[in-house]
Amino acid sequence: MNALIIIDLLNDFMRPQGALYIGDHVQPLIQFCQELINQKRKENYTIIYSCDTHWENDEEFLLFPPHAIRGSWGQKIIEEVKPQEGEFIIPKRRFSAFFGTELDLLLREKKVEKVEIVGVLTNICVLYTAAWAQMLHYQVAAYRQGLTSNDLQAHEFALKEMKNTLGIEIL
Ligand SMILES: [Zn+2]
Repeated sequence: MNALIIIDLLNDFMRPQGALYIGDHVQPLIQFCQELINQKRKENYTIIYSCDTHWENDEEFLLFPPHAIRGSWGQKIIEEVKPQEGEFIIPKRRFSAFFGTELDLLLREKKVEKVEIVGVLTNICVLYTAAWAQMLHYQVAAYRQGLTSNDLQAHEFALKEMKNTLGIEIL
């Protein structure tokens, strides 16, 4: 089995009014992800949304301005890629989608061997999730067109790091 993990396509990152808006270059990514998700649904992938879901005084706010606070508009998945029935939303409070979440348990129950990743930010939640997945011995792939960051140099660095250090397939 394969899974597609969609990381943090939330209003706070993807909309100009959002608390941590990445920038207008997210537009092509939204369309790419929309098409990819639909294609993977047809291929019977397990579709998993990994979503920042912070408490109001989350410790992460020592590093970043408050964002993705549970129950808020900013924490919601953007309309264009919203989950369908039977798909999974896994809340997270740290960069890795595996840390303190049931993601690994879910993947094991679904007999997933390969995970494919899209989302934001390439150099933060995507990189740490990809690294963790690789260390748990999943096969990992990431879609270049489905990833971005507010810092495009860091985005490129993270892609290199995933490919060269972690052996992740960049599609
Ligand atoms: Zn966060």
